[in-house]
Amino acid sequence: MTGTAAGGIRFDQVSVAYGRNTVLDRLDLTVEPGEVMALLGPSGSGKTTALRAVAGFVRPVSGRVYLGDRDVTALPPHRRGIGMVVQQYALFPHMRVRDNVAFGLKARKVPKTEIAARVAEALELVGMSAYATRYPRELSGGQQQRVAIARALAVRPGVLLLDEPLSALDAQLRSGMLAELARLHRELPDVSILYVTHDQVEALTLADRIAVMDRARLQDCGTPQELYRTPRTEFTASFVGNANLLPVTVGSGSVVFAGHHLEVSTGEAAAGTTATLCVRPHLVGLGDGPNTLTGTVTEVQWRGSTHRLHVDIDGHRVKADLRELRQPPALGDRVTLHFAPEDAVLLPTVDAPAEAKTAAGAVHG
Ligand code: ADP
Repeated sequence: MTGTAAGGIRFDQVSVAYGRNTVLDRLDLTVEPGEVMALLGPSGSGKTTALRAVAGFVRPVSGRVYLGDRDVTALPPHRRGIGMVVQQYALFPHMRVRDNVAFGLKARKVPKTEIAARVAEALELVGMSAYATRYPRELSGGQQQRVAIARALAVRPGVLLLDEPLSALDAQLRSGMLAELARLHRELPDVSILYVTHDQVEALTLADRIAVMDRARLQDCGTPQELYRTPRTEFTASFVGNANLLPVTVGSGSVVFAGHHLEVSTGEAAAGTTATLCVRPHLVGLGDGPNTLTGTVTEVQWRGSTHRLHVDIDGHRVKADLRELRQPPALGDRVTLHFAPEDAVLLPTVDAPAEAKTAAGAVHG
């Protein structure tokens, strides 16, 4: 199935406001043809608003939205050639599966024989061919969501918008559907997908690139690996994966954290300024090595394949995820931790409002 609309989405300085409240602030973002872009961020950060601006359900107060080369900012939703799937399936309860899937095609006055072929094709794509004559109430939540995806694909969109499509499903179904969506994307390599989620696992699993949103703004954008290894902001570091964010004072070629001198690349940070050092818990080791930190164990959690240690270092909590630990330290033990200089990233310190920190913390524990 190939897209009829030219692929790719471009936000050019798109702002959306409700009254005086700017909920999307000058968004600049390009989704390449065939790319899966996740919009990741806490609740209320403007993700759905961005998606709705592409669909045409909200009108920007400034900026332009492009689909391929077309400026669609002023086009009504039905003329944009987009498929959209929302959280709550939104199937018509009184219509059989095949009529739900045919709905957009009938509205577009596609000839009857072609409708039958396209419905069959879309149901086949989502593995629901055997359910064509059922009613939505006769399907599980996961099956209903597949039908909703088939309905979106039946119009052969160049762009597929998915708004938290898995959040109404239970954990097991969700991971199955994640794999399904990945397969679907391989079968539809020309379709650009914009995928709204607050769940970093979904974003890391599915997306070619992730756009991190917070408080109406794009904070960061990159491949999952880039955001994980070299986040540009504290917010990204804490929202994508787990992070130790240590307050440090910058020296020359080193930083000072709680009385410990640590060798890290200080880049362009000026000596004497304060900054935040990001070290991923799984890159922290136990025992001597480069960049040692000594403190007291305050918590030991067994997590199946790893032990998570919390170590108090002069009033700061440092987390370490350790594999193959035959004899984990006990609470109250003095331990030494270490990390390699190249595994730390120095970030500018920002005083995020308490609510943003809570939102990020809530996802990662
Ligand atoms: P997200 O998808 O990241 O959870 P949204 O884009 O849904 O965030 O919402 C961003 C902000 O816009 C929120 O503060 C929300 O309350 C506000 N908002 C969304 N829709 C409306 C609306 N129709 N009227 C007024 N405010 C809205």
